Amino acid sequence: MIKKFTESNKFLKEVLEVIPLASQTFSKSYLQYIKGEAPLFAARAKGAYIWDIDGNKYLDMINGLLPVILGYQYKAVDEAIKKQLKKGIIFSLSSALEYELASLLRKHIPCAEMARFGKNGSDATTGAVRLARAVTGRDHIAVCGYHGWHDWYIGTTTRDLGVPEDTKKLSHKFIYNDLASLEKIFAENPDKIAAVIMEIENYEEPKTGFLEKVKEITHKNGALLIFDEVITGFRWGLGGAQKYYGITPDLACFGKSMANGMPISALVGKKEYMEKVADIFYSFTQGGEALSIAAAIVTIKELEKKKVIAHIWKIGKILQDGTNKLLQKNRLAEFIKVKGKPCWQVFSISGVYGYSDLEIKTYLQQEIIQAGFLWYGQHNMSFAHTEKDIKKLLNAYAKIFQKIKKLLESKKLKENIKGGLITNVFKVR
Ligand code: PMP
Repeated sequence: MIKKFTESNKFLKEVLEVIPLASQTFSKSYLQYIKGEAPLFAARAKGAYIWDIDGNKYLDMINGLLPVILGYQYKAVDEAIKKQLKKGIIFSLSSALEYELASLLRKHIPCAEMARFGKNGSDATTGAVRLARAVTGRDHIAVCGYHGWHDWYIGTTTRDLGVPEDTKKLSHKFIYNDLASLEKIFAENPDKIAAVIMEIENYEEPKTGFLEKVKEITHKNGALLIFDEVITGFRWGLGGAQKYYGITPDLACFGKSMANGMPISALVGKKEYMEKVADIFYSFTQGGEALSIAAAIVTIKELEKKKVIAHIWKIGKILQDGTNKLLQKNRLAEFIKVKGKPCWQVFSISGVYGYSDLEIKTYLQQEIIQAGFLWYGQHNMSFAHTEKDIKKLLNAYAKIFQKIKKLLESKKLKENIKGGLITNVFKVR
C-alpha cells in the first residue's frame, strides 16, 4: 500500500504560520525529510512503532533521536511516572529522588563521584564547560564532535548566526583521531585552554591509544577532560563509553537515553571539581523536576535488571552486518556504509555516478518510508526492536538497494525522487 502524507503536508503549512521550522528540533523537522513524501507529525507511538497523523504505521528506527531506549510506553517507566504524579511533579524544595539518582549514576559511571541534573544534553555540556573555566581560570575550549545549541559550541559550526565573534574565538575544533590537531590548539593557546570536550566515539572508532593520549595531552597542559556521553551514555554500557574504553575523564555529560524519553540530563564528575558547581551558576527552575528523575531511576534499574544493552547490541549487530552485506552484494559498499557501534549506527553516504549524497539519501528515505520504516539515516536501536523487526528491515533494504543500484547505473535516480531533497542543517561551506 502506498503511503500518503496528505494530513502531514496540510498541517505543515498551518504549523509554519505559528512555529518557526514547525518543530522544536532540527532533526525532527521537515528539513530532515523528503519534501512532500514523508510523515512530519506523530500521532502516537508504542513499543517499537510510531503512527503519523495520516494513520500510517512505521517501525521507528529513530526513537525520538535516541532517548527511547526501552521502547515507547514502556510499562515500568510509565508506572513510575504515574506513581510520582500522585505525589507531585515538582516541589518548592529538593526531593530525595535526586539523591537516589545521583547515587545510581555514581554506582555505574567511573567518573561520577558527584552529579547535577539538567533537562537537555546542552545543559550538561554547557555546565561542564563553565565549570572547567571556573576551575582553571582559563577561557578557551577545545571541542570535537557535537555538543548542543549553546554559543560556545554552535559558534564552531556553519549554523553560527547570532553567536558573537568574541565568543567564537574562544572555541577551537580538533579532529577525531588526529592528535596533532589537538596539540596544535594547545601550542597556539598556551595556558589558555580550560577544557577538552569530546564525544568519546561517534561513528569513527578511536585509534589505539588515541583516547589515552588525549587525556595525557589535556592534563599535561593543565586542562580538564570532559567526555560528552550524551549519545554513548547508557548504550555503550551502563557506565558509558568511558567504562567501555577504560578511560576516566574529569567530567562527563549524559542525557538522551537515561530516562526513556523524559527530559533529563546529567553533569557528573570527580568530586574535587564537581564541588565547585555550587560556586558557579548552574541552576534552573525545572532541574529537580520529579517525573523525569523517577523515570531515570526506573530506566537505569531496568537496564540493570534486563539485558537491554546486550539486546540492542545483539540485534543491532545483526542489522549492521546484514545491511553492510547487502550493500556489498549490490556493489554499493564503496559509497554507502553503516558505521558506528551496533547500538547506534549511522549511514555514511558519499556522492557517486554524478549524484550527491543528499540525492542518494533522499531516494533511500523515500523508499524506506514507503516500506514502513521511519528512517533518517541512523539505526537507533531500542529494547522493543525484535529480531523479526530487524529481518523485515533487511528484507526491505535488499529490494531497495537493488533498485537504487540500477537507477544509479542507468542515471535515472533523479527522476525517481518524488519530492524535494532532504536539507543539510549544517551547510557545507
Ligand atoms: N552532545 C551530543 C553528543 C549530542 O548528540 C547532543 C544532541 N544531539 C547534545 C550534546 C545536545 O543534547 P540536547 O539536544 O539534548 O541539548
